[in-house]
Amino acid sequence: MANAPHDQRPIELVWLKRDLRLRDHAPLAEAARHGPVLCVYVYEPELMTHPTTHASHLAFINASLIELDGLLRERGGGLITRTGNLPEVFDQLHAERPIARLWSHEETGLGITYERDKRVKRWAREQGIAWIELPNHGVFRPLTDRDGWSARWRRRMAEPVRAAPEQIQGVRDVPSAGIPSPADLGVAGEVRPEAVAAGISTGHSVLADFLAQRSRSYQGDISSPVTAWSGSSRLSPHLAWGNVSIREVYQATAARIAQLKAMPDREAKDWAKSLGSFAKRLHWHCHFIQKLEDQPDIEYRNLSRACDGLRDERADEALLDAWRFGQTGYPMVDACMRALAAGGWINFRMRAMLMSFASYHLWQHWREPALHLARLFLDFEPGIHFSQVQMQSGTTGINAVRIYSPVKQVRDHDPQGAFIRRWCPELELVPADYLPRPETMPVHIQHAAGCVIGRDYPAPIVDNGKAWFRARQRMGALRARAESRSEARSIQRRHGSRKRPERFPTAR
Ligand SMILES: Cc1cc2nc3c(=O)[nH]c(=O)nc-3n(C[C@H](O)[C@H](O)[C@H](O)COP(=O)(O)OP(=O)(O)OC[C@H]3O[C@@H](n4cnc5c(N)ncnc54)[C@H](O)[C@@H]3O)c2cc1C
Repeated sequence: MANAPHDQRPIELVWLKRDLRLRDHAPLAEAARHGPVLCVYVYEPELMTHPTTHASHLAFINASLIELDGLLRERGGGLITRTGNLPEVFDQLHAERPIARLWSHEETGLGITYERDKRVKRWAREQGIAWIELPNHGVFRPLTDRDGWSARWRRRMAEPVRAAPEQIQGVRDVPSAGIPSPADLGVAGEVRPEAVAAGISTGHSVLADFLAQRSRSYQGDISSPVTAWSGSSRLSPHLAWGNVSIREVYQATAARIAQLKAMPDREAKDWAKSLGSFAKRLHWHCHFIQKLEDQPDIEYRNLSRACDGLRDERADEALLDAWRFGQTGYPMVDACMRALAAGGWINFRMRAMLMSFASYHLWQHWREPALHLARLFLDFEPGIHFSQVQMQSGTTGINAVRIYSPVKQVRDHDPQGAFIRRWCPELELVPADYLPRPETMPVHIQHAAGCVIGRDYPAPIVDNGKAWFRARQRMGALRARAESRSEARSIQRRHGSRKRPERFPTAR
């Protein structure tokens, strides 16, 4: 039921952030039970121009908002957008229509959103407005002890999925700023031409299709960039921007596993096992976000302070540019970077290799590469991202040091070069045997393949073997220090999974 114009009843303000969905949206469901609901998305300049934000993120948000607005309208509601800082935008809205309560999900985000939340909290208190924050994922606030975390997570995932409100008392007379373009907001970059479609219905059909078909050999498919494209769920952007909730995915997966287990054939049992390994990653999603929740400064600082000074904080721009633009002379690194620039997605193993290459082969501090990858990843999720970046750079102090060889990755995961040839067309005619190390091609083969090293494709910017050995020595020396070991124990207590710790060092 829409309100009459100039209705001045206080409103329930639902603040949308990384939760652009209708179902399993506790703040929306609760607000709808209390009174007239206005949903708002605020384009915050500080966030829009942050070095992690890219035009493709904004395009994903905008498409999700347009769909969500339609769904809310079908139920009597709707959403508005505003551009500006917080809490100023809320203050303005409060002047336009008194706010009874502010509803939102808890956000585990960047330092700037953490600071903004403190300002919003202060403002709400001063205005006498209750700000009700409800959990979005299986992340606990505050968490005093990591013991028992997994059991709590499972209980949270088993809670009922909140239904979409059937009827919403909408608020019609508050104007919206509409849908801005990247240029309107000064957001960096151009929308990636091959980025996947955004939105709630797309998110749900990606999930349904994955569970019904694509997950059959998930476990075997996810490591290679050739097979992961369809064998991995591809749910990450929909999870990161909240088109689907982690609980919805978990429950649908559990139901599918039960269905497969009830089938008599061997293939169904193997499929269920594969999905079990997928379900583990849903657990990791929250496990990693919990780390940033518990220690927000891992966005800026080494989790293990014993690693301070390990690498120069000033980037070597020439080396990093070669990495950023896919010109390192290592085909797997270059193909991954170019694929990311086009579509904003790559599988886990290749992300780990990219980060490992920047940290170990190029010996660069993780901060600049982290920002660059955040802009590239359509699914940028701060808690997963900064935790993973530090893990792949060896600065967590507790995880095994894994130095990925970009040469071995070609042999293991793209031996015929299907992926590499697509993204590095200059290597199209290079014989498969030379793809791991094109610089070893005899000159006559380079000419026959139309790929002269140094002219058509770069020579390697660093020597794989030497870089690997040097990095291993440096990390070994660091980990052997007594203070590294004692610090590792306290990091493990605060952040570590309660499963058996990994051994050091391993090579990949
Ligand atoms: C350096 C680095 C940075 C990363 N940054 C991000 C990021 O910003 N956002 C992001 O969503 N993932 C990130 N990941 C984790 C992982 O690579 C992606 O979640 C995964 O590739 C997304 O594809 P998918 O949805 O098909 O994954 P699936 O394998 O189908 O997994 C399903 C979901 O589980 C979660 N998940 C899977 N693997 C991991 C993992 N290793 N750690 C934590 N959660 C996981 C994700 O939410 C994912 O969408 C990063 C990994 C590395 C090595």
